[in-house]
Amino acid sequence: MVDVAFIALVTVAIAIGYVLGRRSLKKRDADSFPLSFDKTYFQGLNFLLNEQPDKAVDAFVESLDVNTNTLETHLALGKLMRKQGQVDRAIRIHQNLLARPQLDIAHQHQVHLELARDFMAAGLLDRAEMLLKEVIAESSALRGIAQRYLLDIFQDEREWSDAIQVAEALVSSRYIKSAPDKRRSLTQMISHFYCELAEESSHKNDTAMARKHLDKAMISDKTSIRAALLIGALENQDGRHKQAVKVLSRAVAQNPSLMSECLPELYKAYIAVDPVGGFNQVLSFVESQVAQHPSITALLFMVDQLLIRAESEPSRQQQAHDLLSRYLRDRPSLAGLNKVITLQIPRLSPDIANDVISLQSLVQRLLEKRLNYQCTSCGFTGRQLHWRCPSCKSWDQMEHVKAVEAN
Ligand SMILES: [Zn+2]
Repeated sequence: MVDVAFIALVTVAIAIGYVLGRRSLKKRDADSFPLSFDKTYFQGLNFLLNEQPDKAVDAFVESLDVNTNTLETHLALGKLMRKQGQVDRAIRIHQNLLARPQLDIAHQHQVHLELARDFMAAGLLDRAEMLLKEVIAESSALRGIAQRYLLDIFQDEREWSDAIQVAEALVSSRYIKSAPDKRRSLTQMISHFYCELAEESSHKNDTAMARKHLDKAMISDKTSIRAALLIGALENQDGRHKQAVKVLSRAVAQNPSLMSECLPELYKAYIAVDPVGGFNQVLSFVESQVAQHPSITALLFMVDQLLIRAESEPSRQQQAHDLLSRYLRDRPSLAGLNKVITLQIPRLSPDIANDVISLQSLVQRLLEKRLNYQCTSCGFTGRQLHWRCPSCKSWDQMEHVKAVEAN
């Protein structure tokens, strides 16, 4: 069912187009005004009054002459259809326009761009890609916008090399050069595309190629935490642990909100560099970081490492308790409470321990329900970190949910 506002909007759009089209026709050739124009128009009006808006739109489109004055009306109608989810109808409107021989080349490009967007909305990405490439090659006026849409397609299709090519062309375009924010967001995107390629190479065990991609990722965005994380893991894998410590601690300092993502590799690197002193170093590094940027996930990682060490060094057990209580005193959290209970259970008498275990299962059920990451751009929440938000498709917008850290 199409709502009243929509019908009103279509009517206004058609009426304006009708008046403009009629005026221009009159100007051009008053004697040759086609009778069928009026007939189809009123047929459309009839459909609209009989609450058959779909048929009405078709009749209106057919009744409108295509010229410079009415083209905007056709395009507005096409956009409206696409927004309403009526992609088939939007495609028909735009194809109908292209069939008109009087359409000049600049307007043809405009219609191609709209048709490409229809195809994108319909999931016909190959056809959209073809049209956009045509617009990019032929229209300097619409090149930038067509490149943006093409970039969206390549990202959705995970064609990262193609995406890099288009994004780099955009970065060097005149339009982007004068907009530093847009330029920055594009170079960050390019860095992610290289990271994607690096991950693909790593999965194929081609670490040399992965490194090449990561170098380019860093050139594009030297503050990229994702590139730093991947480089750190590769350095560890190749036994270059000092390098791993360097790149990962710098990444944590630049992006403290994602410290817990870097910590496992950073820990591995510290211990490999110095098996005795490395542990205390990483411990004090994490403690000083969480004091400024609270992260219960990072803190619990270190508590777990202390508990593992406690098997060979019993004093570490008390150190784990102390670290946790110091942190929770100022920043109580559900995940912290869960760990406190786990640590206390072995110290309790068996009957009390049973009661505490059932209490803990309630806490754990609450923890299972929580979503750890949230997109700062659209609010999407999820259990795992996505570098590109699955909902709004923006890069680098997922963060730890502040409420999870605090609750
Ligand atoms: Zn989002």
